[in-house]
Parts: sequence; C-alpha cells; structure tokens
Amino acid sequence: MTDESELSPNTSEKPVSSAPKAASKKAPAKRQAKPKVVEPCEPCDALPASFERHLRYGLSRGEGVSCELFQALAYSVKEQMLDNWRQIRVDDSHFQRKQVAYLSLEFLMGRALGNALLSLDLQQDSRDALSNYAVSLEELEEAEHDAGLGNGGLGRLAACFLDSCASMDLSVTGYGIRYEYGMFAQKIVDGYQVERPDRWLREGNPWEVRVPTHNVTVPFFGHTESYVDKQGRRHIIWVETQDVLAVAYDMPVPGYRNGRVNTLRLWKAEATDDFDLAEFNQGDYTEAVARKNLAEQITMVLYPNDASENGKELRLRQQYFLSSASLQDLLKRWVSRHGHDFTQFAAKNVMQLNDTHPSIAVPELMRLLIDEYGLEWDSAWAITSQTMAYTNHTLLPEALERWPVRMMAQMLPRILEIIYEINARYLDLVAHHWPGDASKLASMSIIQDGPHPHVRMAYLAIVASFSVNGVAGLHTQLLKSGLFKDFYELWPHKFNNRTNGVTPRRWLAHCNPALAKLLTAHLGKEWVTDLSQLTALNALTQDTAFIQKWRDVKQANKALLAKMIAKECGVEFDPSMLFDVQVKRIHEYKRQLLNILHVVHLYHQIQQGHTENMVPRCVLIGGKAAPGYFMAKLIIKLASNVAHMVNSDPLVTPYLRFAFLPNYNVSAMEKICPGTDLSEQISTAGKEASGTGNMKFMMNGALTIGTMDGANIEMLEEVGSENFFLFGLNAEQVSEVRNHYHPRSIIDDSPALSEVMKLLKSGHFNLLEPGIFDPIIAAIECSDDQWMTAADFDSYRVVQEAVARAYKDPQVWTQMSIRNTAASGRFSSDVTIAGYRDEIWKL
Ligand SMILES: *Cc1c(COP(=O)(O)O)cnc(C)c1O
Repeated sequence: MTDESELSPNTSEKPVSSAPKAASKKAPAKRQAKPKVVEPCEPCDALPASFERHLRYGLSRGEGVSCELFQALAYSVKEQMLDNWRQIRVDDSHFQRKQVAYLSLEFLMGRALGNALLSLDLQQDSRDALSNYAVSLEELEEAEHDAGLGNGGLGRLAACFLDSCASMDLSVTGYGIRYEYGMFAQKIVDGYQVERPDRWLREGNPWEVRVPTHNVTVPFFGHTESYVDKQGRRHIIWVETQDVLAVAYDMPVPGYRNGRVNTLRLWKAEATDDFDLAEFNQGDYTEAVARKNLAEQITMVLYPNDASENGKELRLRQQYFLSSASLQDLLKRWVSRHGHDFTQFAAKNVMQLNDTHPSIAVPELMRLLIDEYGLEWDSAWAITSQTMAYTNHTLLPEALERWPVRMMAQMLPRILEIIYEINARYLDLVAHHWPGDASKLASMSIIQDGPHPHVRMAYLAIVASFSVNGVAGLHTQLLKSGLFKDFYELWPHKFNNRTNGVTPRRWLAHCNPALAKLLTAHLGKEWVTDLSQLTALNALTQDTAFIQKWRDVKQANKALLAKMIAKECGVEFDPSMLFDVQVKRIHEYKRQLLNILHVVHLYHQIQQGHTENMVPRCVLIGGKAAPGYFMAKLIIKLASNVAHMVNSDPLVTPYLRFAFLPNYNVSAMEKICPGTDLSEQISTAGKEASGTGNMKFMMNGALTIGTMDGANIEMLEEVGSENFFLFGLNAEQVSEVRNHYHPRSIIDDSPALSEVMKLLKSGHFNLLEPGIFDPIIAAIECSDDQWMTAADFDSYRVVQEAVARAYKDPQVWTQMSIRNTAASGRFSSDVTIAGYRDEIWKL
C-alpha cells in the first residue's frame, strides 16, 4: 500500500488510455513512497456507459450471454470503486491511522456483485444498463461463481467482519490466500458425497487487481548460520533457502454507502526467477523449470477440513506463506514512511489472528524485526506482544493445531529457533508463578515433549498475544475454565469475549429484499447500519395487517426456496408445510444425526397411522463433509436413504418430506435462510463455539430449536424463552452425564427411540446395501459416544411437538417470528466489530 498509484483507474482493465501507463513507468515506485496529493482525474463513466464499453471492448464475443454480461457489469462496478479505493489508501496512510491486519487462512466471500451493488447503491443503474438485454439482474447475479475460499463459519466470519469494518469506516485489511481451488463442489451420487474440484478462477476474477509491485519473497528450508559483527553483536542468518514469490491480488471491500473501499489482499505463490540457479548452471534447464510447480503448489488448494487438522506439510507451508508475506507487506509499508524507527509501530498496528492458522506470524514477526531490521530481542518482543491478538474458534481438542518439531526444523529452521527462545523465556515466567511445579512446565510448554515433540500453536498464540478471545459467552467461559485454564490464571487480563455476528447487509438487506422492503417501510432505512433499530418491530406484533404482510413475505420466500429444492433435489416442498432446516458443515458434534433420527421417528409415526394433530413438515439438511471424515460422509448417506424412503411413500408425503441439498454454500444460504420457518441448532452442548448460521436464520424470522450451546444461549436471552425452542442437556450436564452414560438403557427407556433404532437395525433404509449403517448404530449405542445423541433424543422429540403446536396457529407463529427478527440486532457483526474496535484494536 506504499504505492497508491497501483489502483489508478489507468491500470485497470480499461481498454483505452495507455499513455498514463508509460508515465508511471518513468517514476519508480520508491520515489513515490511519500504521500502525495492525488490529482483529481476525469470522472469515470456512469455505470451504463462503462458497462457498454466493457461489453464492447473487453470481451471476446459480445453475444450477450449472462457470463459475459456478468463480467462486463462486474468490471464496470469495480471501475466505480477505483477512485475511492485508491483515495482511502492515501488517506489512511496520510493521516497515520492505526491499521488492523486481519490474518485468516479462509475468507468465505461468496458472490460479490449483489453485495457491491447494494453497498454502492448501483442496483437501479445496473437495471438501466441491462435494459437492452434479455436478462434480469437476478439472472446475471446467478452467473457469478462463489468465492469459496473457506470451509464454513470461521471463513464466513472473516467475510462478515470485512463488510462491517468497511461499513464502519475502519482501516482494516484482510490478508489471505488466493487458492486456485476453493472449497470443493459437492455432488450426491447414489446417496454418497462425491467431491468435485472448484476451479473458481477458470473464467477469471473480474474483482481482483494483481499488484506485482507488492511482491515479496518467502523463504523455506535451508539452514541458519551465525556471525559476529564489528560491534561484537551476534547475528543469525537463514541461508540457502528455497524462496517463493508471494504476489498480491487485491479485492475491493466496499462499505455500505459510505464511500469507503477496504482491501482484501490475497497472496498467490509463484516461483522466483532465480530458482535453482545451481541446476540451471548444470544445464538441467527443463528440470529446473518443471520444479517451478513446487512453489506454485502452495496456493493451489484450500484444505477442506472444518474443525480438524491433519498435520499436512503443505498446510504448514500455506500458513507460513500467508503470515510471512503479510507481515513483510506491513513492515515494508512502515519502513517506507518511518525508516527503521519502530517505536510507534505497536501504537499503529494490530494483527488479528483468525484462529491459530496464522499464528506462525508470531515468530515470523520476531524474525523480521531482529534478522531483517536489526532490533534486539526485547524490543522485537515488546512489539510482537503488543500487536498480536488471537481469536480461538474451537473447543474440540482434536482441532487444536500442533506441528511436529521435526517438520518445522526442516522447513522453517530459523522460525523453530525463535519459538524455542520464546518458550524458554516464557517458561521462566511459568516457573516463577508456580515455583517447583515441574508438571506445569511440561503441561504449559509451547513444545510438547515426547518421542515426537510438537509445537502447540494455540499456546504460542496465547503467550505472544495481548488479547485472547472466544466467540460467544459460553465458549469464552469454557476456555477460561478448561482448555486454557492455566493461561487464564497467569494472564487473566488477556482473556475476553467477542460474540460473533453476521452482516445485515448480505444476510438481510441483500438476501431478503421482500423483508427488507417491509422493514424499511415501517422503520425507515437506518436499520441496515444500526440493526438494534429492529427492536421497534416489537410494537407491531399486535398489528394484524403487519402480521399478514410478514406472513406473506415468508410464504413468498418459502416458494422461492421450494423452487430451488425442486431443482437441486427433485423433491417438492409445499410452502404450506413447516420448513424445518439444518444447513452447516456435517460433523458429529453438530448432530445432523439427531435430526435424521427425528425424521425417522415421524416417518414411523405416519406409517403407524398416528397422524392426528400432525403438522405437515418439510425437512431440509445440507452441508459438506470433510473428504476424509468417514462418519460425516456416512451421515450424508443415511440422510439420502431416509429421504428416498420418505419421499417415495405416498402415505407419508402429505405429512413429511425430506431432502438433502447438495453443495451447500454462501449463495445457497442466501436463498435458504429467508425461506426457513424452523432453524435447527442442535449441537451437543459445549461443542459449538458460537455458530453464525443460527444468527442468519434469526434475522430472517426463523424460530430456533436449539441446545444451550454457543451463541444460542445469547439468542435465547435476547428473544426470551417463550420465543425459542430449547431442549437437551446443558454443557455442565453433558460433562456430568458423560461419566455414567449408558445409551442402551436410555434407548430401552424410550419407546420412541427404541422404535427408531429397531427400524434402523432392520435395514429398512438400506435394503440393497446391508450393514452400511452399522457404524452409525454402534456410535449411538456406544457409552463413550462423545456427542451423546441418545441422551437428548426424547427432549428433542417433545420440543419438536411443541414446535408443531405453535405452527398450527399462524398468528402466534408469525408473532414469534417477528420477535426473533426484532431481537436479532445484537447479532449484527457491526456490534461484534465495535467490540473489537473499542476493546482490542483500540482504534
Ligand atoms: C453461515 C455459514 C456457515 C456457518 O454455519 P454454522 O451453522 O454456524 O455452522 C457455514 N457455511 C456457510 C456457507 C455459511 O453461510
């Protein structure tokens, strides 16, 4: 960002105007480092004219197919942002605002067009631009490929945060990886998940700007040497490294109608030009060129694991690549203004680590400050420990990242030395705090000892950070009392809670235009940036005309969702039935299985003729399983098979329909949450850190059936228990019951669950594939079933009956729906970001 000229409209894809390019060549980047007054440039064309120009000159065939029209519109929308985008960088650097770097291995952005049009207020202009073409804006939006650079909640949170930061005029840059292949596309074949590569960049990415002047090189492998300089100071140098080039690709992040455009900077790995000179010199030219691929592999693919890591070497390479490139970028910008004076660096910079994935940034910042910029250890540590802030995202012990010391010693020898030094100094502190307690030294050490020692990345992040936060009240409390108990004792002031949120722009204004219009008609338009204003809806819950309008909106959204489900699943959802939805990554702790068992229960009831008082419902489950997660994949297969039996029995379908939606992603969620009546948030208490899907549903007027877990607890608090369907054990009870858990006797004591298990075991759902569901049956009946599905079944079933009773009275249900939206204001990511801004970043 030192060189603001990068973003001048002249370097965009604009086909005309080549003269300024030549001019910029004459002025080397270095000389432009000082802030300068940006010349006001010719006002760029209004959107319709710019669109025509891009369509005519920018693209190959001009046949008006939606893919080409989309590209032309996206380029012209980007063009509208370029001036502000550049100006923001100049201003931020000119006024020396404190900068936040949000470091994340994942940004689950979804589509950008609809959101950009909303933020820039260009919807009408776009419709005007399209008026000559036989395609609607909505169809055109569908032509955009999702940017699926994330797995689930963690990546989507990063995307919501970027939107809030820009909309709140904060100087926050997202740093991530430009994966060639994003989250895989999921197909269902014979009921099984099949993964297809997601080559999202195939048709090009109209939003990105490649910024080669920001290239940095990231070292790998090699070894360290030391020497003593003339002043007698010892220096370490990391030599014979294999360097990889990090190339910056910037994506604009427009704020909501405030003129601000922030940056998401994504790094792509490329080979350096001087790769393997030795090999060249030996004449092995082709071999050397072929090895370029090795470097480029680093940013080839997103690891598709949500909430579990598998210690793959390439993943560590990605983490270091992102961390190093981003920090070098920040330091370069600093040095260009301040030289090697770092005294104010910590006052002007914060790095927020989105989980431990980028926590290798801790030793990397130490390395850059010491080895590259000549600081002493203590000054470097003061800077590092005042600028790093760590967000924890999970309580699952298997998801805590650890890297083998051996792997790190090879790949990042200098980094490992620094980690050892950090650890040694920190363990002195531990020894001081717990005198004579050797077990504390072992249990709290960043290095986990043993025959195969590992680096505990969460501990490294905590030790170096001035802030450690959880993502919901219960989650933070459990971190303090469990996983990080000792650290909390040592540094209570570091720990804080920032309950997650979702952006109301994408998750209400954009995805639910009908409801947005109704809200604006009654409340004015301020709710878009101040979601607390939705509480005014509570005054309308007795207004029968308003209730009817609310209901009409929901019914229309259900019809749209039904259309998508018919197309994607071949199952007819009837909008007069209750829409009961669970979409999220497939994981045992999220308990899609509990939902399926309930469907089997309803199916059995219907077949037994117990249909009196039954409320007809359509159940939807969707989500991807990690490709290597056997049980999650089997749960998908079970859902598919049960769905097949349910939907093919004409005695059942008047009361129950069931579909598994393939390829759940951000764009799918934009259609799902507006059309949902009942949101399933049924994780085993104490396992879901926060959840954010729960919030999107609530905002869109769905009622929640859920456990006392994650942010559900705070949602219930806001909306009141009379508007929330609570069931199951709480976190405390879960850990208590765990010690004497006997699912078989729970099943025996529950007639309903006994029938369900009997039906499963009979092979009714897998007549042609005998035995395939045995692992699921065994897991439910196993006394160390971590997820305790059987324990909550009856409670869940009974509360589902209460759901059905409530749904029978449309008036009552709609009032509850309104109250849910009214109470969702606290779950705007604007509120969350205000917390980060005031309590952590101190902007
Ligand atoms: C919101 C969202 C998530 C997170 O959902 P949870 O229910 O909180 O796990 C995951 N994936 C997508 C595509 C989302 O939009």
